[in-house]
Amino acid sequence: MAAIKVHDKSFGIYLSEEKILQRVKEIATTISKDYAGRRPLFIAILNGSFMFAADLFKHLTIEAELCFIKLASYKGLKSSGNVVTSIGLEDDLFGKEVIIVEDIVDTGKTLHNFLPKLHHQQPKSLKIATLLHKSEATEYPLELNYVGFDIPNKFVVGYGLDYDGLGRNLKEIYQLI
Ligand code: 5GP
Repeated sequence: MAAIKVHDKSFGIYLSEEKILQRVKEIATTISKDYAGRRPLFIAILNGSFMFAADLFKHLTIEAELCFIKLASYKGLKSSGNVVTSIGLEDDLFGKEVIIVEDIVDTGKTLHNFLPKLHHQQPKSLKIATLLHKSEATEYPLELNYVGFDIPNKFVVGYGLDYDGLGRNLKEIYQLI
């Protein structure tokens, strides 16, 4: 397995660019069918989801809106999940069909803490699309409506996900060795 280094850690390739894009297109097709005629608002959570959100959005065949928001909750190799606040959520969500776009759901704490803030605005519907899900790591169960890949409970980088700020530009997803 070809290894790469990000900071002090070695990572091996886990998902190829081709495999990721194929799955992202499949999700875009499913969402386009599910939301035909409904014009959903995608709320992508920065920073990690920017690449997934871009590829997903590109392949939608329906009218849709997109905004990016930021939640502060993550440092180093462990997720703290303590969502302090959201920045950039200016839209009034009342009556909207919202789809949250996440890079990865690990313990589920981040979304568990954040979802009530969204529900409070009374969107018409609220669904979650995540590229990666560490189902083994679940501590806060969530209904995940669109999942790209269920992955083992090991740290990953690439395709938007970082390790201490680096690795986001990698086209593939790499797993900690
Ligand atoms: P949760 O609150 O579900 O435990 O964690 C969600 C957030 O933790 C993700 O949005 C992501 O920022 C971060 N995270 C969890 N696992 C990983 C991982 O394996 N790699 C990276 N780069 N970030 C992760």
